[in-house]
Amino acid sequence: MPFSTLKLCPQILQALAEVGYTQPTSIQEKVIPLVLERKDIMARAQTGSGKSASFVLPMLELWSASKGEGKAKIKALVLTPTRELTVQVAEAFVTFGKFLHVKPKVVSVIGGEKIGEQLYDIQQGCDIVVATSGRLLDIMSKKQIDLSRVEFFVLDEADKMLDLGFEQELGSILEALPAKRQNLLFSATYPEKMQAIASKITKNAVDVSI
Ligand code: AMP
Repeated sequence: MPFSTLKLCPQILQALAEVGYTQPTSIQEKVIPLVLERKDIMARAQTGSGKSASFVLPMLELWSASKGEGKAKIKALVLTPTRELTVQVAEAFVTFGKFLHVKPKVVSVIGGEKIGEQLYDIQQGCDIVVATSGRLLDIMSKKQIDLSRVEFFVLDEADKMLDLGFEQELGSILEALPAKRQNLLFSATYPEKMQAIASKITKNAVDVSI
C-alpha cells in the first residue's frame, strides 16, 4: 500500500517522497487513519517500527488543516524519555512539515542545554513542543509556558518513563492541559503500572498492536 492511499496532503506526501519513504510501516498503516479520525490511541510498538512518523504525519496533517486558529499557541505536546528521542521527534516534525504552506514552529525542551534559548523560542510563539518531563516542569514552574490550548498529547516510549517520580510529574503536566484533547500513547510494553497511566491519560483509546 503506498502512502498516497492514506489521507495525507500533497505537501506531506512530497516530503515523504523526498526522504525516500514509499510505503507505510504496519504501525503507520494502522495508526495514521485513527489519528486522522481523532481517536485516542494506546499503541504497542517498539523502537524501529516507524512509530515516530505514525504520529508525526497525521498530527501535521490535522495541524495544517486547522492552521490560523490560535496561531502560535502550543497545539501539541510530545513527551519522550530522552533528549535524543526528543531531538529526533522534533526533527521529524520539521522534515515532514517542510513543504507545508505554513510550517509549524517546533521547539525541543530538554535538560542539559541552556534554558534561556528554549524559553526565548517558546516566548516567540510555537506550535509544537517536544519535551522531556524534567525540563518541561522546570519551565512550567517559572510560568513561562501556556499549555492550555494543547489539542494533541503524545507520550512516546512511555514504558521508559516509568521510573520513580514520573507518575507525579505526569500528574502535574496533565493538570496544565485542557481536558478535551487527543491522546496518543506509545509503549513497547503495558505492565500494570502503564495500564493505570493509560487509563488516566486516554479516553476510549483504540488498542493498536503490530
Ligand atoms: P522509529 O521507530 O520511528 O524510530 O523509526 C525507525 C526508523 O525507520 C527510522 O530511521 C525511520 O527513518 C525509518 N522509517 C520510519 N518509517 C519508514 C517508512 N515508512 N519507510 C522507510 N523507513 C521508515
